Amino acid sequence: MRFKSTREPKLTASFADALAQGLAPDGGLYVPEVWPHLTPKAFGSDRDLVAVGKRLLEPFAAGDVLGASLGDILTEAFDFPAPVVELPIERLAVLELFHGPTAAFKDFGARFLAASLGRLREGRPRPLTILVATSGDTGGAVAAAFHGRPGIEVVVLFPKGLVSPTQERQLTCWGGNVRSFAVHGTFDDCQRLVKEAFMDPGLREERELSSANSINLGRLLPQAVYYAASSLAIWRRHGEPASFIIPSGNLGNSVACIWARKLGLPIADVVLAHNANRTVPDYLATGEWHPRPSVATLASAMDVGNPSNMERLRALYPQLEEIRGAVSAVAIEDEAIRARIRAGFEQYGQIWCPHTATAAEAYERLPVERRRGGRWVLVSTAHPAKFREIIEPLIGREVPVPESLARLFARPTAYREIDARLASLRDALRDGGA
Ligand SMILES: *Cc1c(COP(=O)(O)O)cnc(C)c1O
Repeated sequence: MRFKSTREPKLTASFADALAQGLAPDGGLYVPEVWPHLTPKAFGSDRDLVAVGKRLLEPFAAGDVLGASLGDILTEAFDFPAPVVELPIERLAVLELFHGPTAAFKDFGARFLAASLGRLREGRPRPLTILVATSGDTGGAVAAAFHGRPGIEVVVLFPKGLVSPTQERQLTCWGGNVRSFAVHGTFDDCQRLVKEAFMDPGLREERELSSANSINLGRLLPQAVYYAASSLAIWRRHGEPASFIIPSGNLGNSVACIWARKLGLPIADVVLAHNANRTVPDYLATGEWHPRPSVATLASAMDVGNPSNMERLRALYPQLEEIRGAVSAVAIEDEAIRARIRAGFEQYGQIWCPHTATAAEAYERLPVERRRGGRWVLVSTAHPAKFREIIEPLIGREVPVPESLARLFARPTAYREIDARLASLRDALRDGGA
């Protein structure tokens, strides 16, 4: 299949080229040119992520240089589970996406992209530089996924002082082929810098650039796999479609869910749970799109004022009324996130990270008939141990740290500071070293 730019539909790329380029040459994002239709029956008895993923992604990779390796890529990338844990109340479940190496859902997309690009780059003389802007979790997941891969260098840009201490450690503990730049600015500045670097002819001349942000199709598409697998599991168990509440920032995770539904998976409602960065909820309420600078919140990985993947949502649903029919959105303030972390522990014995708590609060705010009418799934995007400093005072006890995180915490860290200007990024890139 070919993928087209959200801006100029005549601009198309193969699956492999879309992954390698990250962004379309006109600055648009790649989206599928056509939508295959897969009913639950088409999945036979497929259950695990690899089998479901093969079935789901086969039509997209068909005829592509990566097509024959799709099974191997999925096996390599998805080597940890995404369990649906049913809670003992109402008809609520939690989809746990935090069992990967950096304990956030971004491991799925990052590892799929790394396994794919690793295969595409084999035998190339020129190294590839992957630029990644991160609001906290992306950079760690991408660094972990690419660390030690020959022929690929990773440069992580994060907003200095605006990520949690744990996240900062995950962004800066790699060395080798991973460099970390702390940008004097916000996540939006980091994202802008990456876009500017891509548009800069000088830099493009010097090095092959790619992005690993959720604007990269190779991160977004594989995320549809856990929505497919979990909605199928619920469909088979209960004979009902699943409705998902998704902690949302840049909308990569949410668009993946909407794509899974578009492909025919048994998914009913999709609710976008945002923090105080309310660009999307305000847009759905007023019809006016006002991107704005992001504000810092407890759910920092969702501090996005100008969500990139809105462009993909608009490509699918050009009219406001269509978007309103496809999703609903709510903004949750920090105070309510705190209260929900406390209540989740007291009521359900669940320890939720601030992002997951945002989804849990969005669930509580649904009208009761909507709550009762659906099979709701809270999407749990990160392990709470990544946000110990927020959670422990609220629940009054220590959050157990998974072994994979404990190993990361023990590594030494290093980063370089840069201004939020393309010239600073250019200098730092040319400097080599850390
Ligand atoms: C990145 C992230 C989000 C937001 O996901 P988007 O795809 O940017 O909407 C939510 N929660 C956590 C823990 C994250 O790391």
